[in-house]
Amino acid sequence: MVRTIITVPDPLLREQSAPVEDPRAPEIQELITDLKESCLAAEGIGLAAPQLGVAKRVIVINHPQGKPYALVNPEIFWASSGTSALEEGCLSIPGIIVRVTRPKKVKIHALDERGEWREIAASDLLAKILQHEIDHLNGVLITDYAEGRPEHPETPQISPGALLKV
Ligand SMILES: [Zn+2]
Repeated sequence: MVRTIITVPDPLLREQSAPVEDPRAPEIQELITDLKESCLAAEGIGLAAPQLGVAKRVIVINHPQGKPYALVNPEIFWASSGTSALEEGCLSIPGIIVRVTRPKKVKIHALDERGEWREIAASDLLAKILQHEIDHLNGVLITDYAEGRPEHPETPQISPGALLKV
């Protein structure tokens, strides 16, 4: 079911999300389905459960080169010292773009939707999406990275490949 994506200043976006015990539990399977459908409906490339108002550690990734998939209890266990900056928008913060500096590469582990452990070594766009979504699980938003005033999407300095719908 497509659910409404909540937006700032909804306090649920600032909550610390709780770990999931069993990804195969019916309510988690339903949450995963809703996340995928809501992400696709919003033409997003990633979505986190808190954006549907659910404080559980579940994210979906809808990388342009694949089908949407869910990651449960994702955790970054390694990040490169090299960083890069990219303009990011957020489906929960309409109309705002922030240039965010993050590690270029990360390694994460997570449970997949069948409850099996997976390890993902990510770089470039996928690394940024993962970090953006995991931030949501910790109540962190792109505006927390803004050094100056957030830029508006009308401003011209948005590079191709910017991370906009996450
Ligand atoms: Zn977001």
